[in-house]
Amino acid sequence: MAENNKDMTLKEIQFLIKHIEKGSLKDIEDIRSEEEKKENSRRLVLKLIEEFGELAENIRKNLRYNGENIKGTIEEELFDIFYYIIAIANDYNIDLEEIFHIKDKINKEKYERSFSLEEARKEYEKNTK
Ligand SMILES: [Mg+2]
Repeated sequence: MAENNKDMTLKEIQFLIKHIEKGSLKDIEDIRSEEEKKENSRRLVLKLIEEFGELAENIRKNLRYNGENIKGTIEEELFDIFYYIIAIANDYNIDLEEIFHIKDKINKEKYERSFSLEEARKEYEKNTK
């Protein structure tokens, strides 16, 4: 279980991964060339695809985290995929929470869902208190 039981927000996770990728918690200036930036974008996308392959293998073998060793499990690869999705969003300066609200509104209409994101959040609050 997490040592800090306060829920993390998507913004916090984007902040964390931005700084992991930068290699520093400080807001240092990005001095990479355009070619270096493009190369990094390609690296992130290739890593994401690689992680999907690892997830597929672990799902095929039904390798689950048992609370002791997360290496080579479905849980590990889901984290890795999530990490690279966030890193790619950061690479393009995309606020994923903002996009989530925009896309969810479209999907609610498209799939004729009976409840809104706001209603789901209220229900979540009620059930987790
Ligand atoms: Mg992996």
